[in-house]
Amino acid sequence: MCAVDTKAEIVVALAGNPNSGKTTVFNEMTGARQHVGNWPGVTVERKEGVVKKFGRTFRIVDLPGTYSLSAYSQEEVIARDFLLENHVDVIVNVVDASNLERNLYLTTQLLELGISTVISLNMIDMAERRGKWINLEKLAQLTGVAVVPTVGHRGEGIDAILQKVIELADCGLCESPRSARHNPEIEIEVSNLHQRLQIKQDCAVPVRWMLIKALEGDAEARRRLAVYAVDGEDALQEVDNTRRHLEQHFGDELEAVIAGGRYGFIGGLLREVVTHTGSVDRMTMTDKIDSILLHRVLGLPIFLALMWFTFMLTFDVGGMFANWLDAGVTSLSSWIAGALPPGPISSLLTHGVIAGVGGVVVFMPNIVVMFIIISFLEGSGYMARAAFLMDRTMHVLGLHGKSFIPMLMGFGCNVPAVMAARTLETPEDRLLTILITPLMSCTARLPIYILFTGVFFSRNGAMIIFSIYALGVLLAVVSGKLFRKVLFPKSVSPFVMELPPYRLPTLKGTIIHVWERTSLFLSKAGTVVLAASVIIWALGSLPWGVQFGGPQSLIGHLGRAAEPLVRPLGLDWRAAVALFFGLGAKEIVVSTLGVLLGSGHSGGSVGLQKSVAAAFTPLSAFTFMVLSLIYIPCIATIATIKRETNSWKWTAFAVGYSLTLAYAVAFMVYRFGLLAGFK
Ligand code: GDP
Ligand code: MG
Repeated sequence: MCAVDTKAEIVVALAGNPNSGKTTVFNEMTGARQHVGNWPGVTVERKEGVVKKFGRTFRIVDLPGTYSLSAYSQEEVIARDFLLENHVDVIVNVVDASNLERNLYLTTQLLELGISTVISLNMIDMAERRGKWINLEKLAQLTGVAVVPTVGHRGEGIDAILQKVIELADCGLCESPRSARHNPEIEIEVSNLHQRLQIKQDCAVPVRWMLIKALEGDAEARRRLAVYAVDGEDALQEVDNTRRHLEQHFGDELEAVIAGGRYGFIGGLLREVVTHTGSVDRMTMTDKIDSILLHRVLGLPIFLALMWFTFMLTFDVGGMFANWLDAGVTSLSSWIAGALPPGPISSLLTHGVIAGVGGVVVFMPNIVVMFIIISFLEGSGYMARAAFLMDRTMHVLGLHGKSFIPMLMGFGCNVPAVMAARTLETPEDRLLTILITPLMSCTARLPIYILFTGVFFSRNGAMIIFSIYALGVLLAVVSGKLFRKVLFPKSVSPFVMELPPYRLPTLKGTIIHVWERTSLFLSKAGTVVLAASVIIWALGSLPWGVQFGGPQSLIGHLGRAAEPLVRPLGLDWRAAVALFFGLGAKEIVVSTLGVLLGSGHSGGSVGLQKSVAAAFTPLSAFTFMVLSLIYIPCIATIATIKRETNSWKWTAFAVGYSLTLAYAVAFMVYRFGLLAGFK
């Protein structure tokens, strides 16, 4: 419940696009009692009126009509400054219902100010005449803002607006507007800035708003930030750094990215809210494509088919190049073995570094192919549709569809995905999303699947990899549903999935994205994986003189100790050791197998494939993939979970849950597999 605080005078600002009917609404509200003058210092008309109605006094200010709240025109600056500085109690946003898309652009910006708002959905008569039916309840629900239909020139709905204004003025911001959220990457950076920068107590404008605007390069917001930050110069510097980072990430100006996000939001909102009863000949290209790709029945199968196709190309086309790379690694290894006298150095290079790092790097082509496709799907706007489709499915399951954005990011890397859970509003939704996101199969796990699929299932490669990814999603959904029931029994708040218009991604943008991710993969191979390979090589060689990786070596002892744990899953000690070291990063699973299994051969993954074929069966290989998918995320993700939940308890829970789940599912896969006659 909110505290009731009866204000003597309620300050109401009327905001809206030119020609939305603002002045008409204003006149209906104030009757003849209005003062017309100019805004201080400028010659833009200022209308203000005081009305007494329903036992209250309203001071109503008609702001200049604007299409947005940037600082490009005098009107926009006036409207913005007034809203920011004058303790406005309630904004009445007059929206032309027959032109929703354009009008809602201003609405999204008004919502970002965090001031109580009611939408006067004006010209509702025009909208109906044009065959548009607007679901008012849904519009209110999805924006988190009250919506009152009005017909300005007939005075319809005006009293209802004033009553709503009283309600909002008396209880303050009862419910924060829902739509004021940006792209997850931007949200993460904004909340990082919010934590790092010290803002003075007397800051008169919403800090979040100021930071976002400053990031966009808005001169006015930057001026304010310089004043309100404890160290203004420093703050601006930080903002500039963040901005540069984000613009590099998006390959576009931040202002354009944010504007795109708003239009995406509106696109998604309209799809939920507006029904066209008239002709559809005014459909845009995007509408036409969406009518197929978002089709009620066909949408999901099309999405699944696209994913299957992605895995097929990743496996087949990527695999072709990977074979060449592998041949190179193999000949490098045998060249070194021939050139160096046998001894620790030769062994370290061939059995340690090349078997480990080389074993991972040969999968680079697969990863590049996957990134090219994903980057294309993202850049074209299709990934947003995938989230939209999932959202629809998730609602059926009673889950929060917004969790799907972090989950989709999780296919790349779980670390930023867990951070992206910040975009969810309630702590429960955030926690739930953090707990299920690691079940999304990140790219680091891909080499494992490709290695095993290549050895055992090369005929149905795409199908097998697809099934592993799908298993991850399925387990995430089931876990989410379980957590929702047991841990956070609460209803789900609805939200709008952003639907940007379709675009052909640029070659440059694609190259930048693919390079960014590939270089991350390579640098990990050169650091974490390299270090792990050397350690595992050392553990396999010590005490010096034993058979490399044999039962007498240190790693042999370690493995024997762990073996009873994995034997019920059809796995041997080398698999246990690989999973253990995979904690550091999942790429290490493959490099460890490379060091331990590739040792009998001359390095390279051709040798590795042969030993994998000898050490696993198709069924135990599949079980191993399932384990790799589910068991504890890597150290970096665990650390991120700790930081984001700020709780050891939940971090321990996440780790414990994933271990238990992994073991249980792998056990079932293996045992039922045996029963079904697989080997
Ligand atoms: P402003 O630019 O936002 O101040 O818009 P005005 O108040 O000047 O209105 C523009 C035009 O729209 C005027 O001709 C109004 O009579 C008309 N108008 C205002 N509200 C409505 C409405 O609800 N329905 C229809 N059909 N026309 C309206
Ligand atoms: Mg006007």
